[in-house]
Amino acid sequence: MLKKLSRWLRMLGQNTIHAGDYTEDDDEIIKLSIKNNAVLLTRDEKLYQKAVQYAKAILIKSDYLEEQLKQLNIKPKESRCTQCNGKLMKTEKQKIKNKIPKKVFQKINRFWKCEECGKIYWRGGHWKKIKSIKKILKIKS
Ligand SMILES: [Zn+2]
Repeated sequence: MLKKLSRWLRMLGQNTIHAGDYTEDDDEIIKLSIKNNAVLLTRDEKLYQKAVQYAKAILIKSDYLEEQLKQLNIKPKESRCTQCNGKLMKTEKQKIKNKIPKKVFQKINRFWKCEECGKIYWRGGHWKKIKSIKKILKIKS
């Protein structure tokens, strides 16, 4: 339900588990957040009411990403992998030559690699999006 928000939270460096990747069951979602000592974010009032008895939980009020991020008052850190939540490490261009498009290799010099799944990141489209969202949230960087 909050898949888009979870990806954005990772881009902003938040350690984020997207419960929907693992389970659809409310009790399991609550267990997952207790086990990981994570704050449970949900749009579902019923789930929230249940979760808040056992775990830290926040009821997300808006359907809109910008409003959701504003509500959470996020302070950005180093981005995490949007796919798997892994940490990103700087990597040498030559090492990943065959993993990125030729055009990107020619134009871009700085790359990051996910420690977990190996996904390669560079300051392309998603970087511009991060900048724009920071602007919306009035975060200086
Ligand atoms: Zn990853």
